[in-house]
Amino acid sequence: MTTDLDFDRDHLWHPYTSTTAPLPTFPVASAKGVRLTLEDGRELVDGMSSWWAAVHGYNHPVLNLAAKDQIDRMAHVMFGGLTHEPAVELGKKLVALTPEPLQKVFLADSGSVSVEVAIKMALQFWLSQGHKGKDKLLALRNGYHGDTFGAMAACDPVNGMHSLFSGVLAQHHFAPAPQSPFEGPLAPDDVAAVRALLEQHGHEIAAVILEPVVQGAGGMRIYSPEYLKAVRALCDEFSVLLIFDEIATGFGRTGKLFALEHANVCPDILCLGKAITGGYMTLAAALCTDRVAKGICDGEAGVLMHGPTFMGNPLACAVANASIQLLLDSGWEQRVAAIEAQLKEEILPLTRFSSVADARVLGAIGVMEMKEPVDMEAVQKAFVEQGVWIRPFGKLVYIMPPFVIESEDLSKLTGAMRDLAARS
Ligand SMILES: *Cc1c(COP(=O)(O)O)cnc(C)c1O
Repeated sequence: MTTDLDFDRDHLWHPYTSTTAPLPTFPVASAKGVRLTLEDGRELVDGMSSWWAAVHGYNHPVLNLAAKDQIDRMAHVMFGGLTHEPAVELGKKLVALTPEPLQKVFLADSGSVSVEVAIKMALQFWLSQGHKGKDKLLALRNGYHGDTFGAMAACDPVNGMHSLFSGVLAQHHFAPAPQSPFEGPLAPDDVAAVRALLEQHGHEIAAVILEPVVQGAGGMRIYSPEYLKAVRALCDEFSVLLIFDEIATGFGRTGKLFALEHANVCPDILCLGKAITGGYMTLAAALCTDRVAKGICDGEAGVLMHGPTFMGNPLACAVANASIQLLLDSGWEQRVAAIEAQLKEEILPLTRFSSVADARVLGAIGVMEMKEPVDMEAVQKAFVEQGVWIRPFGKLVYIMPPFVIESEDLSKLTGAMRDLAARS
């Protein structure tokens, strides 16, 4: 008899998995608050927020209601030639919450697509101005911007997928990952490297793209907000647009509503996603300034050449509106600050274990970098047996829990990380 789990193993791709040598997967029956309930009844405290997204925890009555209300009106209508209140309301919120110059909102269906749109905006902007050769990006080592081809080309060329797809990926320029620590002074080398690349290649670079303050899936690195100010100034000096990818950092994760607020720097284009719907629906956005939008629309094409079928999906927009309102009303700043204080207390000291190379914390993000890559299968199993859901990759064992997590549950997560450090 084949069980559902057998079928899953034999037929379903999971993220970054092999179908011939699959790692175990754990069937979830339901989820509520910060707990995932497995089909066998075991409960796991969630340390991942389903990849940065479920900031309010799972199965939240307010978000459930928003989805139910909207689905009885309409689940979806095309966005070409039609509009609706959930999209307008979301647009108002995003324009109000992000820096003032960001006035135009493109609603995309996933983070990667919003990055594609951001890149396309930058390329079309320069084309429209008659700058034909400005078709490359300057990205950062250890960056991550998504899995579609345009986004993938801007990911770290070593831990990304460049060698595998080298023949088909756009070739971009890469600056070293910033070394300046979050609270320390700006390392002159960090800025000099970007300047040197712009001096040499600025004429062919459409935009700098980076994740402000925290680099996510490409290394879980935290760096100085001062770097953003320096890069903004360099972009202006060399006539290059600046794209911030806040798909992971947006909506409170780093202790500010958006990570760009650590530096008060405004990009020309901003990508948002992940937590935008509180983890309910797939939705993302690329915002840009009036200058970028006008530049694009004054050009030969006359329009931005993008329009996904599910653009502005009303159900996703309605949940996003409820999620953003819930976040703003939730006292998120105090919650994230309390999580940060506890993570600092419980994760930073883990460097005392000889297996641990580094530990770092910002906002509701806690990272333990091991000296050796972890044995995923064994570690995942051990975590589940301890009643926590933490999904490491490579040397990185990290948590970004829902903001609603209580102190005791958070200690359960950090305790499991400590146990791993102690036995490794
Ligand atoms: C997750 C992520 C993306 C890609 O978003 P998807 O919704 O997975 O397509 C892009 N950039 C950053 C910084 C991310 O964390």
